[in-house]
Amino acid sequence: MDLCDLEQVRALLAGTGFRFSKGKGQNFLTASWVPERIAEEAGLDRDCGVVEIGPGVGCLTERLASRAGKVLAYEVDTALRPVLAKTLGHLDNVEIVFQDVMGRDLAVDAAEKLPGLRWRVCANLPYNITSPVLTKLYQARCFDAIIVMVQKEVAQRMCAVAGQADYGAFSLLTQWYARPEPLFTVGPECFVPRPKVQSAVVRLIMRHGPPTEVDETAFFRVVRAAFNQRRKTLANALDGVCGKERAVRALLSCGMDERVRGETLTLEQFAALTNAISNLNI
Ligand code: SAM
Repeated sequence: MDLCDLEQVRALLAGTGFRFSKGKGQNFLTASWVPERIAEEAGLDRDCGVVEIGPGVGCLTERLASRAGKVLAYEVDTALRPVLAKTLGHLDNVEIVFQDVMGRDLAVDAAEKLPGLRWRVCANLPYNITSPVLTKLYQARCFDAIIVMVQKEVAQRMCAVAGQADYGAFSLLTQWYARPEPLFTVGPECFVPRPKVQSAVVRLIMRHGPPTEVDETAFFRVVRAAFNQRRKTLANALDGVCGKERAVRALLSCGMDERVRGETLTLEQFAALTNAISNLNI
């Protein structure tokens, strides 16, 4: 069965009670080159245990399973249970957990269900939970790489660097945990139902530890304050964090202009500024 063939998929879904749900971010791939290329870009081998979020009817899952040691997939829509039993039931290296991925402890699940393998994520993510699920995947700190399809504008935010229009708190969160690389874009015509926006695939090579020496909580407090009030100068935006006067002193001690805006600072500069603020607080 061709799991990207629209007619075959419609026939498969008929009579199962399945209805496409916008709330569950259900846009299934119907262009076979896309899951093929995503699976290829994931660089899998039999030592890999792959975590997939949202198998849908299984078009990406079957390609992951043909390359990896095992695939562990989370699917929130139980109406897909009989469908997936038909499409993937014959694959003994696929395990599907019919639960909301957001409620799972991914490192615990991986240890239990993917023992002895290198853990990697590969998924066409549901658009409605992209940021929270990515944050969860980053913070699990147990994956060596994450290859995901997301909305193109989210991909741009993940990969943006200081000074670019898409640069923001989510860029810094992503780059704190990983080195992101944009791979390719995918048009709405490759899905059913068609989304309104372009999609893009990003590969994240996960870091083994923090990218620089700074207290993580303090760093993200500064970053959030900087981008919550984008139009303000950084010193004004940091008023609520440490007081404007201290923020100015910290900026100057780092060799930065007191009128600088957060969107021009690199991750390392944000870290230096956070350390300078902490030192002034002592
Ligand atoms: N992988 C399939 C494909 O590429 O055609 C389907 C991808 S579709 C964009 C997203 C999938 O994620 C759907 O199957 C949806 O039911 C599932 N999903 C949505 N929210 C979820 C959640 N919180 N936990 C697990 N799966 C979820």
